[in-house]
Amino acid sequence: MNNMHPQISDYESARQRLQLQAQQNLFKHAIALEFGGLGDDFQGLVEAHTAVGVQCQDTGLILSINAHLWGAVFPLLIYGTPTQQQHWLPDLLSGQLIGGHAITEPEGGSDLTALTTRASHTVEGFSLNGCKRYITNTPIADVLIIYARLDQQLSAFMVKKDDVGVQFTDQTQVNGCVTATMGDVLLNNCLIPHDRLLGKMGAGAMMIQSALELERAFIFAGISGIMHWQLAEVIGYARERQVQGKPLGSHQAISHKIADMQVRLSTIRLWLNECARLKDAQKRITLVSAQTKLFASEAFMQSSLDAIQIMGARGLEVNNRLAQLVQDALASRLFSGSSEIQRNIIAALLGIGIYTS
Ligand SMILES: Cc1cc2nc3c(=O)[nH]c(=O)nc-3n(C[C@H](O)[C@H](O)[C@H](O)COP(=O)(O)OP(=O)(O)OC[C@H]3O[C@@H](n4cnc5c(N)ncnc54)[C@H](O)[C@@H]3O)c2cc1C
Repeated sequence: MNNMHPQISDYESARQRLQLQAQQNLFKHAIALEFGGLGDDFQGLVEAHTAVGVQCQDTGLILSINAHLWGAVFPLLIYGTPTQQQHWLPDLLSGQLIGGHAITEPEGGSDLTALTTRASHTVEGFSLNGCKRYITNTPIADVLIIYARLDQQLSAFMVKKDDVGVQFTDQTQVNGCVTATMGDVLLNNCLIPHDRLLGKMGAGAMMIQSALELERAFIFAGISGIMHWQLAEVIGYARERQVQGKPLGSHQAISHKIADMQVRLSTIRLWLNECARLKDAQKRITLVSAQTKLFASEAFMQSSLDAIQIMGARGLEVNNRLAQLVQDALASRLFSGSSEIQRNIIAALLGIGIYTS
């Protein structure tokens, strides 16, 4: 796929790329054997995702994997009934089914109180109405967990792409992580049965919080692998490129930039390991996941800018992945909650400011 927005054949390959990761058991980390997982821990997940990032160098694929895992697989693991888990998990873990989660709307992203998608009771279940926007995996998803207001409170509903009254579209898209695929979900009297309610009625806000905490804690495992590749590219170039008869990297203005890139990457790895350590010890990660997401996305942004500056115009050549990483980094400061929202969370946990999810 190039820097343009995806076409139909790209959607097929986007799905296939996810399924290839599933075949390598990537979706089974940090999941107990009894649920069909590998029975390893979150540290194992971090290492596996990092290796995928090094190998694929594709932030879109990493975003897509994370939307599937934290948006659909883990909410089912945490909140699903045994019947729901038996029905959905095997195919989600094997990649037969692709999932994601739909929170954001045209009029409300950071502000959950602005969400207007509504669910109402019907004899056979629920009817959903509204529009979700910027939803990762929508064009290739089989099922999405959609958060909607039922009796004023947010609740979570599992909606399949072939349910009556729903359209998983491939518009609206953004310039960033384009290989992930994205679209709006249009709900027009979408009818779903009772057993598609996930978790308790009214528990949606808490479920969003729990899904986003996991996403914030671990999405940079894969991206840190990409940053490892980014750093190696820059080091190689700084060694080879001659300026005034000397390697580019021997100029201190360049070598210091590279040193800063290395420090950022190492610090992200420390944060990721801390998230894994706390999850494996079954401790809370609200503060640490917000700090990880904030630090990592800002570091990704700065290192992506530095990489281009070091490479000169070559870094900006059309289809140069290093240039695409700048847009991916911009997107990373928004998805899973923006940098401002992470600062709000951190400040609120320090007893100042207002808590936002
Ligand atoms: C690549 C990508 C993938 C995405 N995937 C998904 C997905 O799978 N599912 C999904 O539901 N959503 C998804 N999103 C949407 C994403 O979650 C939202 O973009 C994000 O929550 C911000 O919402 P917004 O874009 O509506 O901006 P707004 O909420 O309108 O915010 C605009 C600006 O104001 C700032 N701001 C807002 N509120 C405050 C505040 N209280 N204090 C300080 N500053 C504030 C924001 O930080 C931002 O800078 C994705 C977005 C991108 C870019």
